[in-house]
Amino acid sequence: MIQSNISLQPYNTFGINVSTRFFGSFADVETLCELLSAEQIKNQQRLLLGGGSNILLTQNFPGVVLKNEIPGIELISEDENHFFVKVGAGMNWHQFVMHTVDTKMAGLENLALIPGCVGAGPMQNIGAYGVELKDVFHSLEALHIEDQKLRSFTAEECEFGYRESVFKRKEKNKYIILNVTFRLKRRAVLQTHYGSIEEELEKMNVDIIQPKHVAQAVINIRSSKLPDPKVLGNAGSFFKNPVVPLAVHEKISKDFNNAPCFPLNEQEVKIPAGWLIESAGWKGRVTGRCGVHSKQALVLVNHGNATGQEILDLSQNIIDDVYQKFRITLEREVNII
Ligand SMILES: Cc1cc2nc3c(=O)[nH]c(=O)nc-3n(C[C@H](O)[C@H](O)[C@H](O)COP(=O)(O)OP(=O)(O)OC[C@H]3O[C@@H](n4cnc5c(N)ncnc54)[C@H](O)[C@@H]3O)c2cc1C
Repeated sequence: MIQSNISLQPYNTFGINVSTRFFGSFADVETLCELLSAEQIKNQQRLLLGGGSNILLTQNFPGVVLKNEIPGIELISEDENHFFVKVGAGMNWHQFVMHTVDTKMAGLENLALIPGCVGAGPMQNIGAYGVELKDVFHSLEALHIEDQKLRSFTAEECEFGYRESVFKRKEKNKYIILNVTFRLKRRAVLQTHYGSIEEELEKMNVDIIQPKHVAQAVINIRSSKLPDPKVLGNAGSFFKNPVVPLAVHEKISKDFNNAPCFPLNEQEVKIPAGWLIESAGWKGRVTGRCGVHSKQALVLVNHGNATGQEILDLSQNIIDDVYQKFRITLEREVNII
């Protein structure tokens, strides 16, 4: 069913109150194809939506919002080392992660508590605590919007990068992801060296560490550091961590003691954008109805009734200040609509 003039406030984690001209949801590919061909909306601009946790809506949407609600978790095959699990794009990501932990399929434990749906995961190759979706990805199935044909993508075809994929670049707005197949491990190879996972595990006092403990440690850390969108509107990290040549980091380190970085290769390092923003004096700052979170400078927050434009302007001011101070241009991770 197609609805008209619907508020998008419940459908985005920033809690921005804009509306969409048309709105339709689908839980299977047949309904999606009917929606795409419906006379009323077939020539309208489209916005695909999962959980709305990686978008900033800056104005009323003049076209049709299509909400993906395709359910399902299916074990499609297994071998000596792996489980292959196909998941509907509308499944809640965290619920899926907890399902794998509970059923002793390893590999997703570090990605617990990321909001949103499974279908959006490959869009930006979601990642946290040293693990990225690409590490456990097998393939996905997507519908080509123009010719309504199904196509499978391998990991290579998805061209995953740091918060990047082919769906954000040359295939942008051309495909709707319907399901994703993951290759999960029978025997866990735990990644606990990142962030404060080890410290948290020690506090939890477990004897034999299993994926479920790592997931719980990640949940504990994230809950203590990140604002809950139900309480304070946000979309997680607003900016990407910039990748810079080694020489740029060395210069910054000379001027600012202890400038942190993560080595990527022999020529490049990643500098935490949160550190750059904090050093530019933005952590915890409130500007009008929005601001920068007090515990995590990478997260912009809606303190109540902010518009998307106000948050976008705040992000531009931060980009300008960081550039002034460090000559590094921050790139937004959140999709601006
Ligand atoms: C508190 C908080 C913490 C977060 N932490 C992390 C983190 O640690 N790591 C991380 O990577 N991200 C993080 N995020 C960002 C976000 O949760 C993820 O990017 C998530 O995958 C977005 O899912 P979604 O369903 O909400 O996507 P949406 O916001 O609904 O959509 C995001 C983009 O993908 C497109 N899209 C969505 N579904 C489909 C589909 N099926 N087919 C084609 N296009 C689609 C949309 O059009 C849009 O452009 C965080 C966000 C919040 C609020």
